[in-house]
Amino acid sequence: MPTTLFSEIEYLKGVGKARGEKYRKLGINSPYELIYHIPRDYLDFRAHVPVRQAVLGDYNVLKLTVYKKMPPQRIKGGLVICKAAATDGLDDILIVVYNNVYYFQALKEGETYYMYGKVAGTFMRKEISSPVYIRADEKVLIQPKYHLTQGLSVNMVRTNMRQALELMRNEPFETLSDDILRKYDLCPLMWALENIHFPESELAAETARRRLAFDELLKLQIGMSVMKSRSRRNTAFQMDSSVDAREFTEGLPFELTDDQKKAVAEITADLCKNTPMNRLLQGDVGSGKTAVAAAACYFSARNGVQSALMAPTEILASQHFNTLSSFLEPFGVKVCLLTGSTTAKKKAAIREQIAAGEIDVIVGTHAIIQKDVEYKSLGLVITDEQHRFGVAQRAALAEKGDSPHKLVMSATPIPRTLALIIYGDLDISAITQLPKGRKPVKTYAVTGKLRSRAFSFVRERLDEGRQAYVVCPMIEDSESELFAVKTYAEEAAKGDLKGYTTSLLHGKMRAAEKDKVMEKFRSGEIQVLICTTVVEVGVDVPNAAVMVIENAERFGLSQLHQLRGRVGRGSFESSCILITDNTTDDCVKRMKIMSSTTDGFKISEEDLKMRGPGDFFGNAQHGLPPLKIADIACNMELMNRAQTCAKELLDDDPLLEKPQNRPLKLDVMRLFSKDIIG
Ligand code: ADP
Ligand code: MG
Repeated sequence: MPTTLFSEIEYLKGVGKARGEKYRKLGINSPYELIYHIPRDYLDFRAHVPVRQAVLGDYNVLKLTVYKKMPPQRIKGGLVICKAAATDGLDDILIVVYNNVYYFQALKEGETYYMYGKVAGTFMRKEISSPVYIRADEKVLIQPKYHLTQGLSVNMVRTNMRQALELMRNEPFETLSDDILRKYDLCPLMWALENIHFPESELAAETARRRLAFDELLKLQIGMSVMKSRSRRNTAFQMDSSVDAREFTEGLPFELTDDQKKAVAEITADLCKNTPMNRLLQGDVGSGKTAVAAAACYFSARNGVQSALMAPTEILASQHFNTLSSFLEPFGVKVCLLTGSTTAKKKAAIREQIAAGEIDVIVGTHAIIQKDVEYKSLGLVITDEQHRFGVAQRAALAEKGDSPHKLVMSATPIPRTLALIIYGDLDISAITQLPKGRKPVKTYAVTGKLRSRAFSFVRERLDEGRQAYVVCPMIEDSESELFAVKTYAEEAAKGDLKGYTTSLLHGKMRAAEKDKVMEKFRSGEIQVLICTTVVEVGVDVPNAAVMVIENAERFGLSQLHQLRGRVGRGSFESSCILITDNTTDDCVKRMKIMSSTTDGFKISEEDLKMRGPGDFFGNAQHGLPPLKIADIACNMELMNRAQTCAKELLDDDPLLEKPQNRPLKLDVMRLFSKDIIG
């Protein structure tokens, strides 16, 4: 059988068993996957320097003629060292290659090469170790940098890549029509793949990358949309729109905000359709998502179906249980909590009640829908902190039972443009306003000169009975100038915070230790928590009303926003002081945005503008299939184009069933695992 693009990688000419294993380690199982092993960056051999200008201790590109190769030396431990003398015409340098005789043998005396490697030694006696090289008469002086593994060199990958591309030339394929290529100004796929690996110029590499990034974004959006329409084909329990949730919302101790009301209306409208709801409820911490979820549970219970609410941790689950019971029990809606720490006996009893339909709302960790819990009639599944549930879990959920309606809640505001991609399989409700009477956190950005004034402010708040956080970027002192919590805590205890109880909290502490510290902070025994960003997740201490962030320049906008969300949770006036001596435009702008708004959506929109979408895609938390190209190469313009294109394609052919869309569909299936959208 002839080797094809989708043969096992071992069958590609020149690979074989041993090297094949190395490729498999990198997740490359076929020539096709080798071709999609996209270089992260390029080495530009045109940027070479004379030997005497080489930066010692760093990587340099040199143009060298080999004039004498020494015989290989065997040293202890079976190590082989090969050396050769070379010159750039002015100065000599020694080429040193460790343990790779084969590689060394390819170098010829009298031949000139471009070499890239770490240069060490003294001004008089320099050496370049294990350089990557190409002959100086090569046409193409730009070489890709690949993610490699032990025993697999760039040159091996290049050789195999040529073979793989050769195969592709024999069975060329293109996933987009000529019309689309023209309309979106894209190069052909084959050209892109050749030029991403063997670019003749920077422009060629860039053009190629643009096409491949476009493809990836397009596939992502199509995959998400197909998932969405697939789940729409299922049937769900259609609830009765004449059931009124107003009795519930009007009975709450507060009036819902307009955004909350709108979200409840959107959700109940979905619940009354016979296709399953797939909705994302987005809103900052404290925006009141739980009350909206409770209204949905109430509506379902009145319709005689059960709801399940899943949280990522037991602590959050029990928090939700308390809130939901207090909201719902007065209306006779039965709520229960089911987590790993529920005793076996109690679990058995609860399970029986669930199966018998005596319980309306089941709160727990996500084990409650995966394990052997039998529902009488599960109609609605709500997940909190959605970013921890990946696409695969979302898809798995769709398979559960008779396709329940699904609501996911997220406290990470994502700009609409991005949300449409990341949550393309979901409809979106957003709560953008905080409940009335909530005092927004006042934020100040200051330089280090004002530190002692900032701390006298902190002490005043502590004296009033409040608590505080101080956030530093590092755990331990390093060569950098950055503040580290350990020394900071020691010094503060002797200086600015003398006489107050402080404690450290950072990610390298054991979980039990962290819990102990958090408990003491919660109880008020500790007044100031000096911590790293571990404080970002799941901390809720309403009495903490001040946060100081040191080296604020080190944190991105979204991260600063998340951090700041730890204060302003009680009825107290809260403040956040950002300290930085950084005066770059970028930093100044971030500080300005932070001091001028507390709206998470606005902040994430600005963040997107400043950093580009790559950073969002690079964040594994979204649970998207891993992107190889778009995470670094895409920009808003490209993303919008891909979005438009996806829409056009799907309007014409929602499930990509037309023959001309088959290659694209196969490609989408390769990006997502087949079982998700197959
Ligand atoms: P989150 O969106 O972070 O889950 P919660 O649902 O926990 O927010 O709500 C935060 C707090 O605000 C809770 O104590 C809740 O009772 C309260 N709350 C929710 N909605 C309103 C409202 N419309 N008016 C006043 N308080 C509200
Ligand atoms: Mg919440």
